[in-house]
Amino acid sequence: MHAADSNGSKPFLPFSRPTIDETMVDAVADTLRSLWITSGPQVLAFEKALSEAHGGRPVRVVASATAAMEVALLAVGIGSGDEVIMPAQTFFSCANAIARTGAKPVFVDVDPVTRNMDLEATVAAINPRTRALMPTHFAGLPLDMDALYELAGDTNLRVIEDAALAIGSRWKGKRIGSFGDIASFSFHPNKNMTTIEGGALVFAEESEARVAEQYRFHGISRNPDGTRDVTVLGGKYNLPDVNARLGLLQLARLDEFTARRQQLVARYFEQLQTDPPCQLPARGDTGHSWNFFAPLLPLDQLTLSRKQIMDALMARGIGTGISYEAVHLTTRYRQLGYREGDFPHAERIARETITLPLYPTLNEADVDRVCHEFRTVLHAAKR
Ligand SMILES: *Cc1c(COP(=O)(O)O)cnc(C)c1O
Repeated sequence: MHAADSNGSKPFLPFSRPTIDETMVDAVADTLRSLWITSGPQVLAFEKALSEAHGGRPVRVVASATAAMEVALLAVGIGSGDEVIMPAQTFFSCANAIARTGAKPVFVDVDPVTRNMDLEATVAAINPRTRALMPTHFAGLPLDMDALYELAGDTNLRVIEDAALAIGSRWKGKRIGSFGDIASFSFHPNKNMTTIEGGALVFAEESEARVAEQYRFHGISRNPDGTRDVTVLGGKYNLPDVNARLGLLQLARLDEFTARRQQLVARYFEQLQTDPPCQLPARGDTGHSWNFFAPLLPLDQLTLSRKQIMDALMARGIGTGISYEAVHLTTRYRQLGYREGDFPHAERIARETITLPLYPTLNEADVDRVCHEFRTVLHAAKR
């Protein structure tokens, strides 16, 4: 949607936008010309580069982070009768991936400041059916990894980190995915690097990566005589070479993209004092890769709803998003018995959150413009 440029002179600013340079366009065209367009040499090269960026760990790329989470759950043997604990404030696909294996997603509330899964609530949700924890690094701010892995160790649970928003994030200087159990990344265009659609899994063990590889592609394994066997119920989750070629060049610029996001966020923190005041996101430290910047609106002090504020900003050429609705309150997951009031922090964030424009090709003047329009709209709506 680019329609809402009210004064006609200033360009529309979406809340997210990928960075694609001409080198990337040429490389993708070259891959097309090579006529090897689905999974092949570029996938192997991309996996190797991702592995090198993540402490040499085994990496397998797939068609999306959603596919990655499904494959990871299947590879660790999660299915019917099992429970997987996840935050109530994250993207829907985490719950769907769990439920599609036959396991049950068990939601817990999030911390109201970091918006990451509350580990005390997690402890309380663990029971004999619990097999794994699937926390999200919210907006790219790493969860407390020391506490998470202490808990996983004490309880003997697997961890599948939903690191969809956290490629480029660091915990105490170490890249998310370079340590721990399994990490799942997304390369959707709204994420910190893109392959159009795509995702990756980083494993601690090569043997588990091999199992994931089977789930990724029809459950196929090779016999010594060159024929194929099917050993597990796999799907078709492979990433094409065209996408992998783009991913290689995106990965080469990832740290630059991250640094740029961090600079722009610093500008937001300088410029975004509103009246009435918003709750700004937790700043974290230098390890936050800032996939998105989402203040919480002071709705009880405003005469407009969030939708009206989003529409008013749209009319001023500013695109916004909602990251995210509370998963437990969707129709599908209410069927598990969840209700309003179960997770007050997740529900409040879901009601009040608004995602403002943030991407590496935004400039400081754009941030100033967003802040100006945002301040103006909120002030005019003050009760
Ligand atoms: C984007 C996202 C996903 C899903 O990623 P896809 O690659 O689109 O499947 C999962 N979890 C979170 C938190 C996300 O933001």
